[in-house]
Amino acid sequence: MIPQTDPRANYLAHRSEIDAAIAVVLDRGRFVLGEEVAAFEREFADYLQGSGMRGVEAVGVASGTDALRLALRACGVGTGDTVITVSHTAVATVSAIQQCDAKPILIDIEPSTMTMDPVELEAAIVRCKAAGARPSAVVPVHLYGHPAAIKEIAAVAAHYGLRVIEDCAQAHGASVDGRHVGTFGDAAAFSFYPTKNLGAFGDGGALVTNNHDIAERVRSLREYGWRDRFVSVEPGVNSRLDEIQAAVLRVKLPHLDAENTARRRFAGIYSEKLAHTDAALPIEVAGTCHVFHQYVIRVTHRNAARAILSKRGINTLIHYPVPIHLQPAYTGDIRMQDPLRHTEKAANEVLSLPMFPELGDERAEEVAESVARALTGDSMP
Ligand SMILES: *Cc1c(COP(=O)(O)O)cnc(C)c1O
Repeated sequence: MIPQTDPRANYLAHRSEIDAAIAVVLDRGRFVLGEEVAAFEREFADYLQGSGMRGVEAVGVASGTDALRLALRACGVGTGDTVITVSHTAVATVSAIQQCDAKPILIDIEPSTMTMDPVELEAAIVRCKAAGARPSAVVPVHLYGHPAAIKEIAAVAAHYGLRVIEDCAQAHGASVDGRHVGTFGDAAAFSFYPTKNLGAFGDGGALVTNNHDIAERVRSLREYGWRDRFVSVEPGVNSRLDEIQAAVLRVKLPHLDAENTARRRFAGIYSEKLAHTDAALPIEVAGTCHVFHQYVIRVTHRNAARAILSKRGINTLIHYPVPIHLQPAYTGDIRMQDPLRHTEKAANEVLSLPMFPELGDERAEEVAESVARALTGDSMP
């Protein structure tokens, strides 16, 4: 059986280092927001800013959803505000907006990358303003590990005075013109859910920003709004990263680039072997680096292909089967364009093939050959 993802394999790849790092934390006896978290925050900020930037800060929190929610709050988003994002994303993106009592507006994607269409963004802002709403922020999602058109989105947002909060939950290490995603907006949110490109052994997340005031505000919000201990200066929440997760992330971070390279290598194998099929394959826009959190193809007879693959022991997933605006919790919520044509088409066609750093060339080739056969209707072994 070839799994779609395999966080245990990543543990085994770094087992002795991780076990040792966890033992140090247990021996030390400090378990929440201690020196491991502080060191990880510095190392992750340094990784993201590279040698070309200064002043980037990371703040560890309890999940990627919390990183988004607290980033929005620290950017001043609250009751009565409107936040624009896409419908083709994880529910978490929209949930974070609603947790700030803001109104999400969901717009369409560019079909080629399946990320936010900057032209739709501008149209949505103009319509929002005309309707008397207060669009205050935009949340582009770097979906599947491919950067959204972040420079174009940031330019539109700057023109209309909106804040930009990047959803980087699937894009640790992805870049545009050599600059990591997460450093383009006012703030960014990363998730360390176990299956992400940089994954912990439980929930975890980080807010990233080059605005010191935003970083300080999230440091306060994540712990009850404290400035000094036990004294809250504003209502906050409990959203802390723990020491064991931070220690695991510190072991894994130095391997992130090599693991992303491995993902790109398997993506290359898939793309080469599937080139002659009628599946639409992922693209990499010039100047960007795609880190293949997922390798997502588009096929019209998806269920038939999935069934054949599953018989051959190859697990696949669908990210995501139902766009947010069509989910029971969200139908009836306002949106600008109906229908979201490209979003609804993508939801019917996307198929995520196995992708994780330990997959290996041989299994990637086996998957690609099986997919090619499943798509050409020749399902014999
Ligand atoms: C995983 C994910 C999140 C949420 O992260 P959690 O750590 O699970 O809260 C947000 N947005 C996207 C696009 C994701 O894939």
